[in-house]
Amino acid sequence: MQTTISIRLLPSEAGDTTAILGYIARLTGYKKSAVSGFHILKSSIDARGRQAYINLTLLAFINEPFHQRTPQRIAFKDVTHAATTIIIVGAGPAGLFAALRLCESGIKPLILERGKDVKARRRDLAALNKKGIVHPDSNYCFGEGGAGTYSDGKLYTRSNKRGDINRILNLFVQFGADEKILYEAHPHIGTNKLPQIITAMREQILQCGGIFLFEKKVSGFIVDDNQMKGVTTADGHTFTGNAVILATGHSARDIFQLLVNRKIQVEAKPFALGVRIEHPQALIDTIQYHTQQRGAYLPPASYSLVQQVDDRGVFSFCMCPGGIIAPAATSAGEIVVNGWSPSKRNNPFANSGMVVAVSDKDLQGLEEYPDKKQLTGPLSMMHFQQWVEQRSHTAGGGGQVAPAQRLCDFTADRVSASLPACSYIPGLNSVALKDVLPGFVAESLKQALREFGKKMKGYDTNEAVLVATESRTSSPVRIPRDPETLQHPDVKNLYPCGEGAGYAGGIISAAMDGEKIADLLAVKYS
Ligand SMILES: Cc1cc2nc3c(=O)[nH]c(=O)nc-3n(C[C@H](O)[C@H](O)[C@H](O)COP(=O)(O)OP(=O)(O)OC[C@H]3O[C@@H](n4cnc5c(N)ncnc54)[C@H](O)[C@@H]3O)c2cc1C
Repeated sequence: MQTTISIRLLPSEAGDTTAILGYIARLTGYKKSAVSGFHILKSSIDARGRQAYINLTLLAFINEPFHQRTPQRIAFKDVTHAATTIIIVGAGPAGLFAALRLCESGIKPLILERGKDVKARRRDLAALNKKGIVHPDSNYCFGEGGAGTYSDGKLYTRSNKRGDINRILNLFVQFGADEKILYEAHPHIGTNKLPQIITAMREQILQCGGIFLFEKKVSGFIVDDNQMKGVTTADGHTFTGNAVILATGHSARDIFQLLVNRKIQVEAKPFALGVRIEHPQALIDTIQYHTQQRGAYLPPASYSLVQQVDDRGVFSFCMCPGGIIAPAATSAGEIVVNGWSPSKRNNPFANSGMVVAVSDKDLQGLEEYPDKKQLTGPLSMMHFQQWVEQRSHTAGGGGQVAPAQRLCDFTADRVSASLPACSYIPGLNSVALKDVLPGFVAESLKQALREFGKKMKGYDTNEAVLVATESRTSSPVRIPRDPETLQHPDVKNLYPCGEGAGYAGGIISAAMDGEKIADLLAVKYS
């Protein structure tokens, strides 16, 4: 028989198969010899008490032979001569998963990506980190796999109503991710593993007969009689297809501007902005696990914090245990920070975005902003976002050097006399961050950080450093679409998709949105 049971183990026992078999026997009342094996269905850490435990849900095999887990494998079709071609602009998770789903349905995807392939992109990231040179089409946001490739690869999402999360996780496993992501409560792939997975996805699309073109920046739309017919690229090429999926991500400001220029409706969208905060990982481990030493069996600890400050949300975002702060700007003259970690999460720092919700109401009282006209209209939030990033660049002093301040110095309004060691490779410049961030952001952050110090004792320490600006938390623009047809209300056969269009926030939800549009197109063109 097969039976599902839940057990709670000490961290040292959770990786010990013999110990787990013993627990199963004891809990089910069978002899140890009757238990032939088990699959882990779910695994989570409970670190609320003094002693941390691992909670496991298991499928146990008793009095019958044990069967290895057979991962679900999706079959893809040969689309070389398919009657329908869909243009996908952008090869991030939304575009890639749309393309794979189209291949599964017998439709040919034609992917146009402004950036370079994973390998070539790596060289541009090295120049960005070491020399502060931002390549406008090849950086942490642009290139094969989009912002997902050199991301942290945390694969959890709150948007479980938007699609089939397990399908997406299974596809990641099919293309090379560890099976653990199927059962861990907080699955994580790691920046070192993602590039091979993204490459395997591209190879599958090409093998099916799909087309994948790099360094093809879409710069024009071909619209005829309110119907999207195709696109043109900056290098002078024209591509036509049955429909266009626009999956260009939250940083494609030129695409937002193009839509406005073409009088295709877009809307300003609230987002969140603040800093990345970095602590020594050992300190976060001590706070979260209530012990001086994490030991060999627990992973580097993470946290999630949220606080309302005068009706405004302040929250941690994309926390990276054992991680690195990365320069994520897409143009010279801006500082944008984000975070990632390798699969082992073995760097000595813990970083997280710490951001404040911003809405269009906040822009109205912004005295310091130079051109007030820009703060109205559909691109107002985008202009605001860019302005803060540019102020951050000025305060950094050049290249990708970022302005920074120790946590307690920030809350006490004191410029830091020195800055602690930090994982951010381009370097830091000590400044008063209240002069970089908009007043309401700085004030809300200050108050929230004091509260976070009460929730996590030791969190508000001067060993922690704040680095500005964490500003690409989600898109500052929404591209509307009809809820039924998923097409843009002004232009038929234009399908806004993923994070840039405002329908996703993270790898999994972007992938699910890509699949959603591909499913609809499969029905339409079947
Ligand atoms: C450092 C970092 C860490 C992150 N960590 C995580 C994490 O742990 N978990 C998580 O869920 N999310 C994480 N994210 C966010 C996640 O990567 C994004 O939410 C996700 O990639 C959005 O997917 P998308 O396909 O909608 O857009 P994107 O991934 O932004 O892809 C858009 C693509 O469109 C291309 N493009 C843009 N304009 C054009 C044009 N004009 N012509 C052609 N192509 C164009 C871009 O080059 C890009 O490849 C992280 C992001 C970064 C930068």
